[in-house]
Amino acid sequence: MDSYAGCSAVITGGASGIGLATAREFARRGARLMLADVNRAALDAAVADLRGAGADVRGVVCDVRRLDDVVALADAAFDEFGSVHVVFNNAGIAYAGPIAETSHDDWRFVLDVDLWGPIHGVEAFLPRLIAQQDPAHIAFTASFAGLMPNAGLGPYCVAKYGVVALAETLSREVRANGIGVTVLCPMIVETDLMANSRRVRGDEYGAGAPVGDLPAISTDPEVTAERVAELMADGILTNQLYVIPHSAARGSIRRRFERIDRTFDEQAAAGWTH
Ligand code: NAD
Repeated sequence: MDSYAGCSAVITGGASGIGLATAREFARRGARLMLADVNRAALDAAVADLRGAGADVRGVVCDVRRLDDVVALADAAFDEFGSVHVVFNNAGIAYAGPIAETSHDDWRFVLDVDLWGPIHGVEAFLPRLIAQQDPAHIAFTASFAGLMPNAGLGPYCVAKYGVVALAETLSREVRANGIGVTVLCPMIVETDLMANSRRVRGDEYGAGAPVGDLPAISTDPEVTAERVAELMADGILTNQLYVIPHSAARGSIRRRFERIDRTFDEQAAAGWTH
């Protein structure tokens, strides 16, 4: 892909935050859009807003926890567009709390949305992207928490590490099919993530169960959802595997890999010979 002009893009979690900002950015660059979200009211408002700005956009209510919903989304996208050029698996929630206090329902909630959601996106879209003649790109929103352990974000880290692994593995496997892969790994970005997470959780995983509060991590005010959307749109065109918008992430990622690397020296010092 070398431009968005005339391309078609599907964005999950497109009614708010990073997904909606990316929809605006793709539309500005000439893409046709299909937004998917579990929140019908927000989706209708987002579609009306984008149409008002001249975008060619449709909304599909879709809960990424349900494979049937995501398959129906893929059906709708291929019916509408013929070919799909970008699939952005972005829908997600956050949950904060120490692992020792995390219930089985908490684990299910986080993994259902944040890990099964992107897996469903791959299951529903990948065979058809491979079969179509046009070039395509699969993008994911993981998190900095998909690259680094964050105390207090255990289930979220497990899910987002899984999304990073999915993207990294997929990028090796589908390169020969002309399909690019990008995974977005931001630190904190100002959105309605926690309020939306509480609403999405509902009563399905235990009535009134909380989603916690994100740890107070200072963040870069210049890295807005709009800036992340620009970086993502560029990253897809240049086929970047990783988009990591916050430069503050660099030191801790380096230290994690140095810690892993040091393990070999420690093992050698302990007399390991293999
Ligand atoms: P947001 O709440 O503004 O947007 C997320 C959208 O996803 C919402 O419209 C919500 O209704 C939708 N959604 C949630 N569960 C869904 C489901 N089961 N099916 C379909 N749609 C669903 O939040 P955001 O910050 O824009 O989040 C987007 C992605 O970015 C998420 O995957 C989140 O984990 C990730 N992320 C966010 C931050 C941050 O600080 N905001 C940091 C790192 C990663």
